[in-house]
Amino acid sequence: MSATLLDGKKLAAEMRAEIARQVADLKADRGVTPGLGVILIGTDPASTSYVTAKERACEEAGMFSLDVRVPAETTQEEALALVCRMNDDPRVHGILVQLPLPRHIDEAAVINAIAPEKDVDGFTPVNVGRMMIGETCFLPCTPHGIIQMLLKTGVQTAGQHAVVIGRSNIVGKPVAHLLMRKAEGGNATVTVCHTGTRDLATHTRQADILVVAAGRPGTVTGSMIKPGAVVIDVGVNRIPDASKKNGFRLVGDVDAASVSEVASLLTPVPGGVGPMTITMLLANTLEAARRL
Ligand code: NAD
Repeated sequence: MSATLLDGKKLAAEMRAEIARQVADLKADRGVTPGLGVILIGTDPASTSYVTAKERACEEAGMFSLDVRVPAETTQEEALALVCRMNDDPRVHGILVQLPLPRHIDEAAVINAIAPEKDVDGFTPVNVGRMMIGETCFLPCTPHGIIQMLLKTGVQTAGQHAVVIGRSNIVGKPVAHLLMRKAEGGNATVTVCHTGTRDLATHTRQADILVVAAGRPGTVTGSMIKPGAVVIDVGVNRIPDASKKNGFRLVGDVDAASVSEVASLLTPVPGGVGPMTITMLLANTLEAARRL
């Protein structure tokens, strides 16, 4: 078998065109331009490229984008003040603080400072709590993007066995929750694997849907896959590559060559989950502006 590649770029482009239409309607009907405020602390190359891509997508969708980039030496108090200023800025409906933050800044304190009604990343405890108990909230962008991808490609989740590798607050835990919740794109039986899991392959071989968010290339190979499984590769890893102009190439967490021999569907890296994440950020920002 050779897996079909699940084209996140194409799907994201279709969804972004629809978001742009809705942004234009909101402007015409209520004179409101959805605005995203982005805070980048430091100059980490991956973070800088993510933030640039998010801002570009925002502008392409007709949204306002407020870009605040400050040096890595920024203090915790200054970081909190930046968030507070955006909380009070009526042009900004959604706030994104690019993670990870420099080590001297308490990430939780900064996230907690974001007004829940502007928390379009869905990371504040208020949003996470609302998600867990099934109240209206902003769903975190990467997990939500994964569910949308499954829905829009007609992958059945109900009654399926989904295995998630990773237990981070950003990907692993929320995607496991969304897959198991009683809702469209959910109703799966979910197993969560992590660094404390014994014999990872025993679990992955039982997965009808496998979501891999380990942050390590080659975590999953073809022999660890159930024939015909749907594999969502969330990982984004930079591998040195002298043949590339920038000196690296991006790979996911799965060994795409061997996994695609066994799986039925596989998300490529790049061009899979990444574009969907940004799309869900735009969708949440539009929703935040609408809720005003
Ligand atoms: P993280 O480092 O916070 O978490 C990784 C998790 O994987 C941990 O919970 C750990 O227990 C688990 N893990 C690691 N190695 C394992 C192994 N061998 N066996 C079992 N479990 C293992 O990372 P994260 O923030 O969740 O991100 C995961 C990956 O997804 C990264 O590569 C990141 O760059 C990528 N990512 C991509 C997007 C996107 O939009 N495409 C968004 C967020 C994160």
